[in-house]
Amino acid sequence: MKQECDVAIIGGGPAGISALIWCYSLGLRGVLLEQAPQLGGQLMELFHQVVDYPGLPSQNGMALRDSLVSHLRELELSPLLSSPIKDLSLSKREIAVGTDSLSATAIVIATGARKRRLDIPGESALEGKGVSFSATRDHDAFKGKRVCVVGGGDSAVEGSLTLAKVCESVTLILRSDAPRARREWLDGVSRDNRISVRTNTVVTRILGESTVTGITIRNSKTGEEESLETDGVFIRVGITPNSEPFHDQLALDREGYIQADQKQRTRIPMVYAAGDICRPRCFSVATAVGQAAIAVKDIAENLKSASLK
Ligand SMILES: Cc1cc2nc3c(=O)[nH]c(=O)nc-3n(C[C@H](O)[C@H](O)[C@H](O)COP(=O)(O)OP(=O)(O)OC[C@H]3O[C@@H](n4cnc5c(N)ncnc54)[C@H](O)[C@@H]3O)c2cc1C
Repeated sequence: MKQECDVAIIGGGPAGISALIWCYSLGLRGVLLEQAPQLGGQLMELFHQVVDYPGLPSQNGMALRDSLVSHLRELELSPLLSSPIKDLSLSKREIAVGTDSLSATAIVIATGARKRRLDIPGESALEGKGVSFSATRDHDAFKGKRVCVVGGGDSAVEGSLTLAKVCESVTLILRSDAPRARREWLDGVSRDNRISVRTNTVVTRILGESTVTGITIRNSKTGEEESLETDGVFIRVGITPNSEPFHDQLALDREGYIQADQKQRTRIPMVYAAGDICRPRCFSVATAVGQAAIAVKDIAENLKSASLK
């Protein structure tokens, strides 16, 4: 079946949801495509309190997601779930979804980002069996145990502090020679004698059969390899953009983020990008919903001036 709409929105995280609401309020017919069976994007992996989204402080990401979804319900807006893109032409603004196709006057790309993985042996096989991507969610399961945290940014360092409250020991493993995290958290790490730091170190393998028993590491300066016993591996090595479907059609930066201007326009006319997919200065829910509003507002103005010509 072929469907037509004013704005096709790809991605149902905070940016996509905001874009759909703004389409409603500006009188545009928006269609939101989300590849997952539920809306929310990264909010579904946010297990701490959200204190920085104005007006809706929430217990965790899922609670904030529920508020956004009930807003959509109040407006009787129904996104299309489990609808990954099969094929798309941004210049023609045509999208194939399953056996259907969608033809739009404008597109808002709001596909966000996902946690980066190490892509090493043992990582996938032992996920949930000692390999974790969230200290906030999983720290209780590691009470009294020895764990390693991989990464050197804010989330790895904050995760180490959370784990040190309950674990016997925490080894923070950094690829570089110094962590790049907030000063107060780094001070916390140096004061905590349960946390040790290994610099210039790359994890090459996660060991274990039914549960994690250790890791192998390589010193990137000397090349020396060794094994380390551990009961858990927390991976916090940042995020990576979900830009694969657009690689051959759009300008991306070195890390694969989409480049957009201040009105969220990409280089293709009537194709916009909003939220984490365009590497905002501040990766946050507030930024994502704000950028989506800017994009849809510009689309509405373009359509209005085109209809006046
Ligand atoms: C652990 C963690 C803690 C955080 N804490 C905070 C915080 O306290 N406060 C705060 O403001 N922000 C926080 N953030 C950041 C915030 O979650 C993100 O900035 C925000 O979710 C970005 O929204 P988005 O809509 O741009 O992208 P996302 O939330 O990534 O949503 C993108 C959506 O697009 C979908 N998608 C991807 N590809 C396709 C495709 N091809 N077709 C269809 N759909 C697709 C995905 O399934 C996803 O649902 C945190 C993030 C993480 C991971």
